[in-house]
Amino acid sequence: MRILIVEDEQKTAAYLCKGLTENGYVVDVTANGADGTHLAQSQDYDLILLDVMLPGVDGWSLLQTLRRTKQTPVLFLTAKGGVEDRVKGLELGADDYLLKPFAFSELLARVRSVLRRGAARQPEMINVDGLEVDLLRRKVQRDGTRIDLTAKEFALLSLLIRRAGDVLSRTFIAEQVWDMNFDSDTNVVDVAIRRLRAKIDDPYESKLIHNVRGVGYVLEQQS
Ligand code: CA
Repeated sequence: MRILIVEDEQKTAAYLCKGLTENGYVVDVTANGADGTHLAQSQDYDLILLDVMLPGVDGWSLLQTLRRTKQTPVLFLTAKGGVEDRVKGLELGADDYLLKPFAFSELLARVRSVLRRGAARQPEMINVDGLEVDLLRRKVQRDGTRIDLTAKEFALLSLLIRRAGDVLSRTFIAEQVWDMNFDSDTNVVDVAIRRLRAKIDDPYESKLIHNVRGVGYVLEQQS
């Protein structure tokens, strides 16, 4: 389980990081909203602990930007106790909020509860035109025939099918699947897509992975 903490108060951030790490979570910390926005969009976190008052991009804006592309659960940490602030957070798509100061035991209980709900929201099986991906058991079938994929091929297919219908850029795919940054050679994506197509598309009449010229790739049923 990976958690991102976006918090500019160093003491609070260190305290959260230590406590969550001790409880078995993998934790990234950033003190500013711009870096937080980038990390939240480019990485797959199970939960984001988000402070509202941040230098530069504040917590509200970060959440607003994030919700355009991702449904990562967000727990707001806020010193602002006003009802309007809490309502605003929930309306923007936060999953829960915690008022500062808080006891670590309470935070941990909220974290676990949000993570449980998040896990329940994730579909286990995704089916597009006879291509069936079992995300939990990591199995793939097309028209009932099992297809064996390497770990990277599976990660690539999972990303494409979770976002079926969305055109994903090579850069985004490279970041998500290979954890590479913007400057990396995205040719590796084309090579991997070719290998994946050879297994899931080439033997079948209807093709699911499509190249969008100059942009990237999309997985969808095209008639
Ligand atoms: Ca703050």
